[in-house]
Amino acid sequence: MRSSQYLLSTLKETPSDAEIVSHQLMLRAGMIRKVAAGLYTWTPTGLRVLRKVENVVREEMEAITALEILMPMVQPADLWQESGRWDDYGPELLRIKDRNQRDFLLGPTHEEIISQLVRKEVNSYKQLPLTLFQIQTKFRDEIRPRFGVMRAREFMMKDAYSFHLTDESLQKTYDDMYKAYSRIFERLGLDYRPVIADTGSIGGSHSHEFHVLASSGEDAIAFSDSSDYAANVEMAEALAPAGERPAPNQKVEKHEVQGDELAAVLQPLSVESQQATKSFIVKASDEIDAEYVQLVLRADHELNTVKAEKLIQVASPLEILTQTEKATGTEAPYVGVVKAKLPLLVDHSAAHLSDFACGANENGQWLTGVNWERDTGEYSAVDIRNVVEGDPSPCGQGKVKIARGIEVGHIFQLGKKYSEAMKVGVLSESGKHETLTMGCYGIGVSRIVAAAIEQNNDDRGICWPDALAPFQVVIVPMNMHKSARVQEAAETLYNDLKAQGIDVLFDDRKERPGVMFTDMELIGIPHQVVVGERNLDQNQVEYQSRKGGEKQKISLDDCVNFIQ
Ligand code: ATP
Ligand code: MG
Ligand code: MG
Ligand code: MG
Repeated sequence: MRSSQYLLSTLKETPSDAEIVSHQLMLRAGMIRKVAAGLYTWTPTGLRVLRKVENVVREEMEAITALEILMPMVQPADLWQESGRWDDYGPELLRIKDRNQRDFLLGPTHEEIISQLVRKEVNSYKQLPLTLFQIQTKFRDEIRPRFGVMRAREFMMKDAYSFHLTDESLQKTYDDMYKAYSRIFERLGLDYRPVIADTGSIGGSHSHEFHVLASSGEDAIAFSDSSDYAANVEMAEALAPAGERPAPNQKVEKHEVQGDELAAVLQPLSVESQQATKSFIVKASDEIDAEYVQLVLRADHELNTVKAEKLIQVASPLEILTQTEKATGTEAPYVGVVKAKLPLLVDHSAAHLSDFACGANENGQWLTGVNWERDTGEYSAVDIRNVVEGDPSPCGQGKVKIARGIEVGHIFQLGKKYSEAMKVGVLSESGKHETLTMGCYGIGVSRIVAAAIEQNNDDRGICWPDALAPFQVVIVPMNMHKSARVQEAAETLYNDLKAQGIDVLFDDRKERPGVMFTDMELIGIPHQVVVGERNLDQNQVEYQSRKGGEKQKISLDDCVNFIQ
């Protein structure tokens, strides 16, 4: 590619509305342009990087015999009514009508569409197991789109779905996916960690998230300083019921509590349950001298001040401390922390509240809480103390360390949640009709581009790992428009590199060398070859790696081999 025929669109100034470095650099390097909140156009440079991610993901999916398909982004409401999600999914779901006033939606995920496909196409156990994937645009009407493509409303996801007759078969594909994900992030040169994830409102027993470590990450992950254990903090909390510390992956037996027993669970806070109205009165027992209670409320969708107040009726004023967003699975619950005076009546009959936990006195010291599962109506005990850096790790080995992470991938054993609701089954070997068990596996393809920049940048711009760079090499000719010799050497080198299948950018603009260097460093091309009169006297060019290190003189004849 020649710069003179290309659209570079670099910016000198840092755009004022871009908070984190990847967003700033993606705008400055001319990779994306904003269309509206959470909606972006990918420019040629940005799209080149996006395609690199896509291709690595595609290759690793194909390596585990996942088959690529392409499903529509617009989905009919009736399938979502079948699964129950038309009512359950919150305002992240963008609902639209066609000209006949029929309901549709823009797909935030594709379990319903894939279930419909498989129930029609797959009839026999002989066709199983089956894994299908697509790389496609998703739409989620995020409450707070931000950080550019990191949390966009329209974004690119790889989503895969697997179908099985048995749990063992699901576990095998899940393990294959886990390995494939690890290979993807390694190939992309990312510093990442798989962490145990909360299965949230989707249910199911096994789930991992893959996080790219970065200080700008929206998630906190807890890991042990002396074992492989890592979990997102929410899960680390859920793994510690009633003081027990189960090992990672160990299924947690929830301590179920009904009615009056709640009072015992919430010692030394006491709770009176009024099951009929699905409400609790929380008050301090005599043992502690608490005036306030802190509540962690989790809802299927937006939990704003108004809604939080609706959920909690208090005699005394309610104080909203923070409202943080925390999503789990393909549905997105929000967590809000609310501080209220005691005694307090918690009314969780509102349809969108999935669970709540309470505890902590005024000093913010967490105590035991309670978890209410909307689907089953069961209560379970949870230890909702923060995971604190330096605490013993929940795995029993070492101490807890906390790091910030960007969720770039999520794998999930769905079980029969969708296949039961949508009647996805086959005839087994014995001729019996069996409902299938499912897994789903997402990767944030466009988010990876931003996450990679968070890990690979310096004060001059982006420093792409080779696997992600929009171009591998840039040729920067010195005063080419005045020197036929420089022009000829640069053209020859350009053609030779292209002939080897190397992605090369030839900066043939009529610009001062300083402008060219600044632009190319900003865009982050890993290898730079400078062709100038003086070095050509010795038949040499100058090589510089974007990651730093000494400039090197190399023979023009060796240049292609050197770059390869
Ligand atoms: P988050 O917790 O960041 O909201 P999620 O858990 O809702 O993500 P999943 O449903 O697990 O997301 O989707 C699979 C992957 O899609 C995520 O791991 C993430 O990398 C990516 N993703 C999700 N939401 C967005 C978004 N708004 N913008 C860009 N990528 C996203
Ligand atoms: Mg989300
Ligand atoms: Mg998440
Ligand atoms: Mg997720």
